[in-house]
Amino acid sequence: MIIHLKPNLPATEVATLAHSLEAMHYHNGTHAILITPSAVKEIPALVADLNDGYWAMDSDIQLASIKYQADLRTIKWGNVAIGGTTKNTVVIAGPCSVESWEQITQSAEMLKALGINTLRAGCYKPRTSPYSFQGLGLEGLKMLAKVREQYGLQIITEVKDSSHVQEVIDYADIVQVGAKAMYDQSILKACGKARKPVLLKRGFGTTLQEFVQAAEFILSAGNEQVILCERGIRTFETKTRFTFDLCGAAYLKYHTNLPVILDPSHAMGYAYGVPDLAKASVAFGCDGLLIEVHPNPKVAKSDASQQLDHATFTQLHGEMKLIAQAVGRQLV
Ligand code: PEP
Ligand code: MN
Repeated sequence: MIIHLKPNLPATEVATLAHSLEAMHYHNGTHAILITPSAVKEIPALVADLNDGYWAMDSDIQLASIKYQADLRTIKWGNVAIGGTTKNTVVIAGPCSVESWEQITQSAEMLKALGINTLRAGCYKPRTSPYSFQGLGLEGLKMLAKVREQYGLQIITEVKDSSHVQEVIDYADIVQVGAKAMYDQSILKACGKARKPVLLKRGFGTTLQEFVQAAEFILSAGNEQVILCERGIRTFETKTRFTFDLCGAAYLKYHTNLPVILDPSHAMGYAYGVPDLAKASVAFGCDGLLIEVHPNPKVAKSDASQQLDHATFTQLHGEMKLIAQAVGRQLV
């Protein structure tokens, strides 16, 4: 159950009530919010006269549910706004990994030329093999910080494990929690304490229920800025890297109040399919897209097969703009 306490209750009283009810609590700027264990279905007597509203939830999808908050959440970074009533389709693009200063500045220049505000690039890479490039780590984060300063771009980069979660939170404008990291509750809880937007990717073997529950870990720790990202799930099919679950994305759009973005690059795994999927994603009405693009994909140190070259991406960007307009949205 979610309980909004009356404003102006002293923090010590809120903490005592939370303790008595075994509830989590945080303040959303207007109300102190108590979140009792999901087994609690009726308003507890202790807070019967102290609440400004309560929501008994019938599943473990609580704060993210439209039954709790029907108004879709708007999340902002820099001059970008996503979700809510914005009708923005936010393009987030860049290479899979930061590889060198030359590579990342070429990416930044291309994004700037297209009017894209948010650069993606990983520094801590969750690779399947220990013998593959693992990312530049802190050196990469420092390059991203310099790119932000020099080009005025906002930066999204991923956290791989809890050893560097605070470092990534400190450097990034948006923290990405990847498909493999989304089960790590120490990462989720640290992101819950962060005051920056978190882009949470769905694991490739994760049900929608588990995915939203991972988001609930971040939301219930007090960070209201969570963006969901569908990036493909594993099915029996092997000709593509993963299967792009647009049905799942439709479910998330309909049942949650969080922005939903789509990542055709990781779903497809091959550059040839990415432009068609990206255009379909814009027509779908997603809140944003994550697309991998590299100055020279052939020599990329991670995810080489799926990254678009700059010419292909530039053409795709123009086409996506038109599709966004056709469905009553704007590409930003
Ligand atoms: C990435 O965005 O480069 C990435 C590693 O994605 P995922 O976590 O979806 O595999
Ligand atoms: Mn990648």
